[in-house]
Amino acid sequence: MTTTTGFYWDERCFWHAGAHYAQLAAVGGLVQPMVSGGLPEAPETKRRLKNLMDVTGLSTELAMSRAPAATRADLLRIHPASYLDRFEAMSDAGGGELGLRTPFGPDGYDIAAQSAGLVMAAVASVLAGTHRNAYALSRPPGHHCLPDWPNGFCLLNNIAIAIEAAKARDPDLRVAVVDWDVHHGNGTEAIFYDRDDVLTISVHQDRCYPIDTGDVSAMGRGAGQGANMNLPLPPGCGHVAYLDVMQRLVIPRLAAFDPDLVIVACGFDASNYDPLARMMCSPETFRQMTKAIMDLTGGRMVAAHEGGYSEVYVPFCGHAMLEEMSGSAIRAPDPLAARNAGQQPDARGEAFHRGVVDDLVAHFRAAGQI
Ligand code: ZN
Repeated sequence: MTTTTGFYWDERCFWHAGAHYAQLAAVGGLVQPMVSGGLPEAPETKRRLKNLMDVTGLSTELAMSRAPAATRADLLRIHPASYLDRFEAMSDAGGGELGLRTPFGPDGYDIAAQSAGLVMAAVASVLAGTHRNAYALSRPPGHHCLPDWPNGFCLLNNIAIAIEAAKARDPDLRVAVVDWDVHHGNGTEAIFYDRDDVLTISVHQDRCYPIDTGDVSAMGRGAGQGANMNLPLPPGCGHVAYLDVMQRLVIPRLAAFDPDLVIVACGFDASNYDPLARMMCSPETFRQMTKAIMDLTGGRMVAAHEGGYSEVYVPFCGHAMLEEMSGSAIRAPDPLAARNAGQQPDARGEAFHRGVVDDLVAHFRAAGQI
């Protein structure tokens, strides 16, 4: 049995440009133009993960891989032709904006298709047994994107595209998506909301983004009733609360669903130092959450990179996760471990979070999901 960890990346994914945002935001006058173009979803957080892996040597222990871009036929399994046509035309014309907070520059369409292609290849490689598990450093991210409406930095729904490509080969495939990006996985939820062959679980800061989705009451519809699980958490949850959610809700739900593959929609924006949310996780939290899934699946899993906006902390969160996925002995010690530990919720905070998780457990027990 293979024990390798595939790592799918492409330099062009770092070239996805939100710089066009400068033309959309009110820069000029008294507003100084921003170096990144003003978009938090900047290349550095992702590039610096890859850089850190190169510096520590972890990348030499992984199967560093490229992948072809998703084809139009691949994209059409999720996105309507009318959307793809508009996207491609605007991309060819130099970039633009098709939704909400999804600016793109020249070749934005091709780079988004490349990003989806990385996730497709990661999924295919694990299903084929080429790798035990695999990580796709996908950019732009995908989990907010609906079939015809991009939002939240997401232009194509990478994971949904990869699932449908896999199901085109094996229609009986059952997949579970565990979305621990700190924002609600609204796009992936919407795409699979009526289906019972894809379980979607989202752990997120309650109403951080989008502000009107992600409620605990949204549990799927029709055949998909019970195949969507939203776990909204209050701001301030840290290591203890996140592991509590994994052990008491996510893992039991996964065990009951018994999928052929688990895909993690892997955002690192629940970290303590993320500018776009208010959670308090550390690299060790992401390592332990990864371990919990691997203990259930025998190590088999795919991770697709989503959000995460701390240039300092995302690389260490990702590195810890990949250490766990690969079983490598190489370590990148958390440079903020002591500071982070000292900022975790106190006993009163932990008790409050425990109560929130108790309520979630009661809700999903009553619904028969765990
Ligand atoms: Zn996010």
